[in-house]
Amino acid sequence: MIDPVLTIVVPCYNEEDVLQETFNQLQGLLIELMDEGLVSRQSKILFVDDGSKDRTWELIYKEGLRNEYVRGLKLSRNVGHQNALLAGLFTAKEHSDCVVSIDADLQDDIRVIREFVMKFLAGYEIVYGVRKGRDTDTLFKRSTAQGFYKIMKKLGVDLVYNHADFRLMSKRAVDELERFNEVNLFLRGIVPLLGFRSDVVYYDRLERQAGVTKYPLKKMIGFAFDGITSFSISPIRFVLITGFVSFFMSLVFGGYFLALKFFGHTATGWTSLITSIWLIGGLQLIAIGLIGEYIGKIYKETKQRPKYIVDIDSFNLPHPRNHLL
Ligand code: UDP
Ligand code: MG
Repeated sequence: MIDPVLTIVVPCYNEEDVLQETFNQLQGLLIELMDEGLVSRQSKILFVDDGSKDRTWELIYKEGLRNEYVRGLKLSRNVGHQNALLAGLFTAKEHSDCVVSIDADLQDDIRVIREFVMKFLAGYEIVYGVRKGRDTDTLFKRSTAQGFYKIMKKLGVDLVYNHADFRLMSKRAVDELERFNEVNLFLRGIVPLLGFRSDVVYYDRLERQAGVTKYPLKKMIGFAFDGITSFSISPIRFVLITGFVSFFMSLVFGGYFLALKFFGHTATGWTSLITSIWLIGGLQLIAIGLIGEYIGKIYKETKQRPKYIVDIDSFNLPHPRNHLL
């Protein structure tokens, strides 16, 4: 293939502190790739504003006026990183042969994009960026992330280890991705399911260049939990098995205490009684909660609500200048 059209998709949520740097670096890289003849002059960078509350969209818009390689997509409200990314991918693929997704904070080494493109030219449809180490993360984030990968692996979900959403996908792969209709799309789990020829590129992850993380602990836990329950029903089976075990145990103990009673030794009883009530009660609550979690998922899926709503798509404007901010 000669000169594929590349679009770099960058989801942004309240990123005003870092955006100017991101514009400069990505544009610099894109021009280099064009000059080297690796990608077409039609290539673009698409910034997706995920309902930011700061000046993010204003910056994207203004950059779009000055810079022919920059396009903007404004979502009508904040829909979260995964959905914002999807909005960007689905919009970008209409104008591209391949798309690269990357975070706005420049934590991922943008030079790796060149290697992504080389792999694409060599016939790979999906190329994963994989972090060599996690030195820039706090010990807490590192260990929780590791725990998460371990659990997912146990549950039989095929994740690419230490891969965040920094990857290249061919247009064809994104087309197929669009057919996965789930409302709760966990990209890192779904993309490997697409199949196709894929490869990984290793890189060092850096510190966030500016601004603060948009993934506080609460969101991280929610993300991990969603990832697990979207892909596996093993947790619910685990509850079922625990239920059976505790049921049989209570039969055995019940028999034992009954025997004690009839053969003269009346058990004082209260401790064992209250402990088992709490034990069984707790197990039941966990079980009900877990079932509720899955039913909630089903409920959300049956409604088939759109994952995101586009407000402004500068790809479909003759020029962003023609549209009022
Ligand atoms: N992001 C987004 N919508 C959100 C939260 C985050 O589009 O609701 C973007 C954010 O602007 C960034 C990327 O997702 O480009 C990853 O977020 P962040 O760097 O804060 O996460 P971390 O690297 O700390 O896990
Ligand atoms: Mg980050």
